[in-house]
Amino acid sequence: MSPGFVLKVDVDTHVGLRDGAPRLLELFARHGVRASWFVAMGPDRTGRAVARAFRQPGFLAKMLRSRAPSLYPLSTMLRGTLLPSVAIVASQPERLRDIDAAGHEVGVHGFDHVRWHDALARLTLDEVRAQLGPATDLFTSVVGRRPAGFAAPGWQCTGNSLRVVDELGYRYRSDTRGTRPYRPTADGYTSSIPEIPTTLPTLDEVIGAAGRTPAELARAYQTWIVPEELNVHTIHTEVEGGPYLEQLDLLLSRVKDLLPVRTLGEIAAELPDTDDLPVATVRPGTLPGRGGTVACQVAS
Ligand SMILES: [Zn+2]
Repeated sequence: MSPGFVLKVDVDTHVGLRDGAPRLLELFARHGVRASWFVAMGPDRTGRAVARAFRQPGFLAKMLRSRAPSLYPLSTMLRGTLLPSVAIVASQPERLRDIDAAGHEVGVHGFDHVRWHDALARLTLDEVRAQLGPATDLFTSVVGRRPAGFAAPGWQCTGNSLRVVDELGYRYRSDTRGTRPYRPTADGYTSSIPEIPTTLPTLDEVIGAAGRTPAELARAYQTWIVPEELNVHTIHTEVEGGPYLEQLDLLLSRVKDLLPVRTLGEIAAELPDTDDLPVATVRPGTLPGRGGTVACQVAS
């Protein structure tokens, strides 16, 4: 496995695609780097997620610690509750094509991000198909080819979701938190495509604990990056493409001296055949700074 630093960009909201994506495109162009983007293809109902977060134990303590009342604008906080939900991609398909045209990789980040995040564990095989079939079709009609990469919303992953992503012909996935590429298995189903997990903590997990200023946060990431390994960093158009753009700018300046910036598609193309990849179980686990559970690679 050759070392590298991967920018995995999740687009969860309408505002993220409209405002955050263009800022990140400009930043990446300035640094001369390519990223792997994953866009939620369906409705923005973030307000539901915010309401859920407020009910979660520890949420208020985290908010107070990070002194960040919200990383999202108020209109996003209310989407799907006080404000009607809005179609993230169908209302602005040109934004998806802009990312593709700028030379980046673009893939699918589910359909209804909030439903996947809250309910995936309960969804039947057909209900998962009802999420991912339309998401894949919309991507294909907007971009003009089928998507190659998939990233699970909220790092939620089950045997059913592994199976449906395989059925739809994706070539690689990034659904979990872990250490190195593997072949994921869950609920008795083993995927036929490689999983390339997120290896670094996300900014919202470390703000406060690892510093507050852009310089402090960029320095913290620098200490977590292992130059001899594959480092996958998930960022969000709503966060690094918003109030934390300067932090990412600083981080990119430093990373480029440490190791090459690469894409998930490039990594996937270099991996051995899926049959020869190590199999690892995917299991819900907790992470410092994050509420709820996320799918984690269990050491095999
Ligand atoms: Zn997401």
